[in-house]
Amino acid sequence: MATVAQQSTIRTITTHYIDGAFVPSHGTEVMEIIRPTDASVIGHVTLGDEVDTRLAISAARRAFATFGRTTKDERAQTLRRLHQAVSARIDDLTAAMVEEYGGVVQFAKPIVQTGANAFLAAEKGLEELSMTESWGKTTVTLEPVGVAGLITAWNANALFICLKLASAVAAGCTVVIKPSELSALQTEVLLECLNAADLPNGVCNVVIGRGEVVGAELVNNPGVDKISFTGSVAVGERIMRDGAATLKRVTLELGGKSPTILLDDAALDQAVPSALIMAFLNSGQACAAGTRLLVPNSRLEEVKGRIRDAMRAFPVGDPADPRIAIGPMVSEKQYERVQSYIRKGIEEGAQVLVGGEGHPEDLDAGFFVKPTVFVGVTNDMTIAQEEIFGPVLCVIGYGTEDEAIRIANDSRYGLHAGVLGTDLQRARRVASQIRAGRVVINNMTDDPQAPWGGFKYSGVGREYGRYGIEAFLETRAILES
Ligand code: NAD
Repeated sequence: MATVAQQSTIRTITTHYIDGAFVPSHGTEVMEIIRPTDASVIGHVTLGDEVDTRLAISAARRAFATFGRTTKDERAQTLRRLHQAVSARIDDLTAAMVEEYGGVVQFAKPIVQTGANAFLAAEKGLEELSMTESWGKTTVTLEPVGVAGLITAWNANALFICLKLASAVAAGCTVVIKPSELSALQTEVLLECLNAADLPNGVCNVVIGRGEVVGAELVNNPGVDKISFTGSVAVGERIMRDGAATLKRVTLELGGKSPTILLDDAALDQAVPSALIMAFLNSGQACAAGTRLLVPNSRLEEVKGRIRDAMRAFPVGDPADPRIAIGPMVSEKQYERVQSYIRKGIEEGAQVLVGGEGHPEDLDAGFFVKPTVFVGVTNDMTIAQEEIFGPVLCVIGYGTEDEAIRIANDSRYGLHAGVLGTDLQRARRVASQIRAGRVVINNMTDDPQAPWGGFKYSGVGREYGRYGIEAFLETRAILES
């Protein structure tokens, strides 16, 4: 049985970060940290409970009394300190992402860098925001919403924490973070960064624990004013429902089934690799992954050949190797989920062009799957409608441009999309008709000031830059008679 060569010492994590200090967990449940490349146990984390969470909420409430009144300049300084502290640990954070969820280093490193830069992006966004507006005898000010609960998914946990924390701090909120329970190693490094950034006690608290325990306490506790969540639709719906009892403000960053429209004038030597990069982003475990590739029927045969050739640039293997494009799935559960969708695709009549069921050759240990491309897919098939969260691409043929747009929008999701074509004006026209929060033209790209978030079931609200800060603000008008 082949394995990816790995060695590490067993890690033990037993503390949370509350009121500016590392505090032993009151919760006693111990969870194993499993390395996805070989399914071995590489550590243990003690999970927090409601008591830990309430302590953290109280600390955040106390800190809000002061931090909520800081000036823009003071908050900008805090953001710069956070940027420096996270930037100093880029390599450690990358290593933790590679080890604990098998994120490939070629993805993990830039993602961590984006996380560090999120604090500078928030500083810029804060500069652009006018916090006071007056006319006549009326003055309108933007005020921090209060204590925010930040709940994150595992697939780029460090990035999500940085993005949410940056916006919250820029707005003047204090926070309690509940990272994914699958991300203890990344969280441990981030806690050291927070500590090094020397924030006032209680501004940023972190409790590691289960969603249904720590997450639910944040959602139900009246001491929390806002929840900013990244994760699945099912949990997002629950947060909205349960949060209603205390009228929580919510930002929900949820799933996707993103379309990539390849137009008939696309230059295939660039367009096909771009489409595959979007599909296999983060080993397919990305909310934004472009997992539906829409191809004009007239170019379908040509595109199939190009995909087979281009797949050579997407090797599967050891995520720590910078040449590797696709690592293992995060967990056995995720491995099984991907397998079940590949089986479902075959049962529903789609044809496997590349990949298929089972482990890739020589990678039978751990949670590696074969990157799989289906052709002959119709948009009503389960594999074209449901988020698989693995390296599985559906190629769907279309006749006219209008039909491509209709198929792209025929999804309950609307997070991200791509348009590939030579005529830029035409590509822009198509992009403007896609109901998704972000549409990229001709390649995966990012802009930290551009909003991020979803239409439809992909979420509620926006993150990034000025838009992300606004999500942590309330408006107050003072009127003189
Ligand atoms: P998940 O919904 O299972 O878990 C997300 C977080 O919610 C975890 O921290 C979990 O512990 C917590 N949680 C679970 N139950 C809870 C409850 N009852 N109350 C409060 N919190 C609870 O999602 P996941 O498997 O960690 O992540 C994968 C999903 O996240 C995918 O659907 C993916 O598309 C989505 N995602 C979206 C974005 C985005 O920006 N839109 C980014 C990354 C991932």
